[in-house]
Amino acid sequence: MQAVFGAGNDLLAGLAGVQRVTQITGDAEKLQAIAAQRSEEAAASEAQAQAAWDAVDAVPVDALEAAVAEAESAVTAARAALSSVQSKVASTSIALIDSLPRDAGQLSQQGWASPVTGRKSDGYGPRPNKPLAGVNEFHRGTDIAASCGSPLFAATGGTVLEARPNGSYGNWVLIDHGAGVSTGYAHLAVGGVLVSAGQIVSPGQLIGTVGSTGASTGCHLHFEVRLGGVAIDAEPFMAARGIRLG
Ligand SMILES: [Zn+2]
Repeated sequence: MQAVFGAGNDLLAGLAGVQRVTQITGDAEKLQAIAAQRSEEAAASEAQAQAAWDAVDAVPVDALEAAVAEAESAVTAARAALSSVQSKVASTSIALIDSLPRDAGQLSQQGWASPVTGRKSDGYGPRPNKPLAGVNEFHRGTDIAASCGSPLFAATGGTVLEARPNGSYGNWVLIDHGAGVSTGYAHLAVGGVLVSAGQIVSPGQLIGTVGSTGASTGCHLHFEVRLGGVAIDAEPFMAARGIRLG
């Protein structure tokens, strides 16, 4: 870069130019210190100002530009790598989803399905020893331990009310079944929510995959049944509909 700097006011304008260069290089502190020093020298005399400009001209602007170009190409390379990883994750997710059963198979006579195949690890009710900070002292659901990525099924038909991250619940799906009954599914895998709000689902339809998002120490489904929006014990409710949880 050719520096075209004169004395006096031109000097100050030139300094602003130097500051712009230093802003983009991230080496602002060092070069602003040089600029401040040069400014004092300029006030002393024109001769000193000229000498100062010789020094400013000696600041390796070309080297700094090269450093910026290098940083830019590093960013470009990192973006390309990220995009490649993202497309690999996307194709893995598609392969995973393709491998999952589309529905729970056998429905109960009442038309209900088991939300997941696994082992019950915690039941509904007060929880004197909180397993994790941030979880409720009253456990509003039934926990069913299952392998990460296991398929999750709608307990029965309905309309998806919520399908989104939800605080300590992690990735969360809530389905309205009518008559004031809804079921909730928490801690779904990252990228494991396979339905969206407003979607109609049939009994036992694949809605997502087991994960450990939110306040969770391992892959499991936290399953809730709500009546009028209030969580009730899901086990007897489901048992009355021909489904044993866990
Ligand atoms: Zn739970």
